[in-house]
This record gives sequence, structure tokens and C-alpha cells, in this order.
Amino acid sequence: MHLSMPYEDGVSRHPTAQEDAMTYNRMEAKPMAGEHCRFCGDAKAPLVKTPCCDQWICCDTAFLSFRGGGRCQVEHERFSLCYSHYEDKHGGPWQSCQKCREFWSSRDDQRYAENPINWPRY
Ligand SMILES: [Zn+2]
Ligand SMILES: [Zn+2]
Ligand SMILES: [Zn+2]
Repeated sequence: MHLSMPYEDGVSRHPTAQEDAMTYNRMEAKPMAGEHCRFCGDAKAPLVKTPCCDQWICCDTAFLSFRGGGRCQVEHERFSLCYSHYEDKHGGPWQSCQKCREFWSSRDDQRYAENPINWPRY
């Protein structure tokens, strides 16, 4: 029995269908020589590829990850339009997605679209 709620990301929520040999599994992530997280610039963090925008992103490798260890991957999957657009399979770039625009403009969550975690900066 679990005493605390583990944060469910990657592993349980997304079946392995879209995973290939590339490291999308955060638990197998390792720091990459010559690479860094494209969102925070951390060169020593374990990295995985984002399935949505194909960028290296830092992540937590713990099996039971509490809020993703505060890493960018969780931020990106939870708070970016980039990832939610990908998850909902809208197609095309999220920046010009009409569905996203209608969906998000009807809520006061526009900050999702403006959240810096949407864009790789490094
Ligand atoms: Zn990062
Ligand atoms: Zn993305
Ligand atoms: Zn969309």
C-alpha cells in the first residue's frame, strides 16, 4: 500500500506504443556528453527526448517521482501547450493550431501558451 500518491508520468500514463529505441523513458535517462537540457541549460542532468517537440529535456529518474523532481520534463508535460497539443493529436505546429486556440482562449489558462516551458531556450 502506498502512503503517498506517486506522481504518474511517462511510465504508466503513456503506454509503450510510441516509444522506440530513443530514450523517452525517463527512468533510463542519463546525462549526455555534449548535450544539455534545452529548457534550462543543465548539462549534468539526465536527459530524455520530448515526444512532442523532439528536444532534449531534463527529467527525474526516480521510480516514484514526486512532481518529477522539479525537472523540466514534468513542467513541459503538464504546463505547456506544446505537449497538450501533441497529446490530443491535433497535428501541425501548436503555435498555429486553431483547436488549441479555441480551447485555451475559452479558459483563463492562457498562461499555458505563454509559459516559457513551451520553448527550448538553450
Ligand atoms: Zn531542464
Ligand atoms: Zn514539447
Ligand atoms: Zn492543438
